[in-house]
This record gives sequence, structure tokens and C-alpha cells, in this order.
Amino acid sequence: MNEITIPGTDLAPKSIYCIGRNYIEHAKELNNPVPSSPLIFLKPQSALSFDGAEIIIPEQSTDVHHEVEIVIAISKKGKYISENEVHNFIEGIGVGIDFTARDIQQKAKESGHPWSVAKGFDTFAPVSRFINATEFEDLGNINVDLSVNGVTKQSGNSSQMIFSINYLISYLSSIFTLYPGDLIFTGTPSGVSQVRSGDQLTATLGEKLVTLSVSVK
Ligand code: ZN
Repeated sequence: MNEITIPGTDLAPKSIYCIGRNYIEHAKELNNPVPSSPLIFLKPQSALSFDGAEIIIPEQSTDVHHEVEIVIAISKKGKYISENEVHNFIEGIGVGIDFTARDIQQKAKESGHPWSVAKGFDTFAPVSRFINATEFEDLGNINVDLSVNGVTKQSGNSSQMIFSINYLISYLSSIFTLYPGDLIFTGTPSGVSQVRSGDQLTATLGEKLVTLSVSVK
């Protein structure tokens, strides 16, 4: 895994942080409470995959869902980053899909167990290439969309986030030292649904500035 670099950057991937329930409509569609502070989980690096990947439905699950998300790549080491300094720590912005074994996650939730298994299977974290944040006028106004077999399933905008991108990075850095190559999945808008073998998924960022296409094996 040490040979690979994050597409569009020279950085090797490091930790993969993810935020749960960061859009009110998505929290509601899964009957989850709206959080008062960011809900954080991690994925292993072995879950990482890239444009053109074949996503593997694991034998342990019969209900794998797509969650399209804006993903941030971190450029340099930082701790206690203030919100107005965050832009100095962003290497690039891309789009990813937080694949989730919903059946396993549901059982974990019921018993208060962690989500590592539900979120961490091989190929469950595909990401696009990353582009410079200056391509966007405002990190608080970025469209993120996902279609399955040509039909739009998820359509969101970072303005709908409960916790903004700047706040999330600042908050994460108050807990974890962030490093170059860290990736941050910033939560999914509503419209998650089950994927099936043969499905073709296309995620887009902004006005199709960035595209990520994957298929389900
Ligand atoms: Zn997610």
C-alpha cells in the first residue's frame, strides 16, 4: 500500500477519517438523532479504492449501501488548527463513496458496537482524483451528486452540512494530529440505497469538475 498515491497529489494515503450524520435529511432517513458534535469513525487503508474500481459485496452482508461524500485530502501536519487556518492544510478536494454494510451497521448500533466492520471492507472507500480547493469559490457551497445506472439517487450541497468543512477539520485536529495524506469523508446527504451486483455508480463534485465511476462486482 505504500507505493500508491492519492490521485491528483504526490501524497501517500494515511488515516481515513469519516463523519457520520452530517446532513439532517440523512440522519432522519435512518431514524438517527441529529448530533450535537461530529460523529467520527475511521476506515482502514485496505478499504481504499479508486476511479474504475470494482466494489466487492462481502460475503458477510446482504445490504450494502452507497453514501456519496465530499472528501478532503490534508496537505501538512497540524494540531489545533483554527477554522480560519484550515485552508492552509487542504491539499485537495475530491469525491468518494462511503460504502456501508447497513445490515452489519444496524446490528452494531443496536448493541453499541463500533462500525469498523460495517464500514471497513475491502474497496469500501473509493475516492476520485483531488483538485485544488481554489477551484471552488466557497467550500460551503459545493454540490455533490451520485447516480446509479444513470438515475440520480443523491443530490446534496455542502451548505446543508450540520458541521462545515472548516469546522470538521478544526474539530478533528483538536483530537488527532492530522498528517499529509489523511483523508476526511465529510458525511453523506440523503438518498442512500442498496447497491447490487452489476450496478454502475457515478459520483460527481461541483458542476462535474470531478467524477468518480465504480461498478459493483
Ligand atoms: Zn458516510
